[in-house]
Amino acid sequence: MSHPAAGKDATATTSDPACIFCRIVRGDLPAHKVYEDEHVLAFLGNSSSSTCHTLLIPKKHYRELRDMPADSMAVLGARMPLVADAVMSGMGAQDFNILQNNGHIAGQKVLHVHFHVIPRYKNDRHWPRS
Ligand code: C5P
Repeated sequence: MSHPAAGKDATATTSDPACIFCRIVRGDLPAHKVYEDEHVLAFLGNSSSSTCHTLLIPKKHYRELRDMPADSMAVLGARMPLVADAVMSGMGAQDFNILQNNGHIAGQKVLHVHFHVIPRYKNDRHWPRS
């Protein structure tokens, strides 16, 4: 079975001018960057639900996970431990959650693929949804 994203050109430049996260990637909106390289960006989200709640995104615009070509997904996945490590050591967190929403019903509000990296602390009070 062929995946819909199979064969997509992973090197194509894709950016949506109306997308908040694309605007952050372009530098048009400010963000506190945690990690950045050619392919991905991690920055502090504006959520108040968790200290240092970080979002890891591909720099190219993909609405949701199924739109991502496998090689872009592999790059993003490889960066996840690095970003988690930076968040954990920077904040003295013990553990972390990775959360990823796809589509409105699933709670996705920003339609640019993003992984929530959520630091967890002993006895923290609640499960931060996003
Ligand atoms: O998975 P979901 O789409 O609900 O998550 C969106 C995330 O984007 C939230 O963590 C929210 O705090 C963050 N956000 C942001 N800056 C914005 C809009 C949303 O960091 N301007």
